[in-house]
Amino acid sequence: MKILSATLALAAALGFAGAASAQDYPNRPITMVVPFAAGGPTDTVARLVAESMSKTLGQQVLVENVGGAGGTRGAGQVAKAAPDGYTVLLHHIGQATAATLYRKLPYNPATDFEAVGLVTAVPMTMIAKTGLAPQSTPELVSFVKANKDKVTYGNAGVGSASHLCGMLFMSAVGAQMTTVPYQGTGPAMNDLVGGQIDLMCDQTTNTTGQIKGGKVKVYAVTTKDRVKSLAEVPTFQEGGLKDFEVAVWHGVYAPKGTPKAVVDKLNAAIDTALNDPKVIARFADLGTEPEPANRRSAAFHKDFVIAEITKWKPVIQAAGVYAD
Ligand code: ASP
Repeated sequence: MKILSATLALAAALGFAGAASAQDYPNRPITMVVPFAAGGPTDTVARLVAESMSKTLGQQVLVENVGGAGGTRGAGQVAKAAPDGYTVLLHHIGQATAATLYRKLPYNPATDFEAVGLVTAVPMTMIAKTGLAPQSTPELVSFVKANKDKVTYGNAGVGSASHLCGMLFMSAVGAQMTTVPYQGTGPAMNDLVGGQIDLMCDQTTNTTGQIKGGKVKVYAVTTKDRVKSLAEVPTFQEGGLKDFEVAVWHGVYAPKGTPKAVVDKLNAAIDTALNDPKVIARFADLGTEPEPANRRSAAFHKDFVIAEITKWKPVIQAAGVYAD
């Protein structure tokens, strides 16, 4: 009896502590892990959102770049972090594709996280070093077929969005290129502008400035429709790649077991960020927009991740690309 009441008292105390800590959350800075290098497109989205969240939450949301293994290193680190709301992850579509791409992923993207909320779905662009010969998507397709392995394609590792786009392109074209992996497409962009690699497909949040500045050549956007801020750039579908469609959705995650009250506070701060005119304007400059209001709940995000894992699984299996 004594043991039982002691146990109950302890449980009550822990429950109370949990509730109290959720109530005064956050009372210290929050780390937002971005699983790619600084200066890239995911980092750009994270820093914009983190800045606004810091104001709403009254505590700094500090971005930490943990690149490597196509985003799975940073994601794995957050999966194992304390579920207290002080370590969160901002990741993209790779959270879903890694589930199939990796034979031995040390975490489960669907069950080791609390989905906090979706942020934005960013179009991609296929870009090249300025000196690359092809002038259009059909010419690029012929060029890649004729030169295959000689063409170098930069990406952020297996599981990254640039990897996914490259994989879709190579299977549409029916030819492999030589892939060059980086910790993120920020550093890959430097090499593309410098002419060390030939091609890359990346989010508009990284490529818009370089395209407009004439630092890279652009062939196509990867969405079904053209992108407002890059209205002169045709879609891959217009260029003859039937059904080619990918947008890089981003979301925030907390480790599994993070109290619901904490997740709710984080979700509300993301919602405020997505309504922030400064964030909306910057997103528009970078070719994207906030997720619409009806896709912003944590529950929607949770189901969406599972739906995306299911959606991409057969595509990846058909391409036969795996990593260990
Ligand atoms: N854009 C990268 C990707 O391909 C990641 C990054 O550096 O943000 O997933």
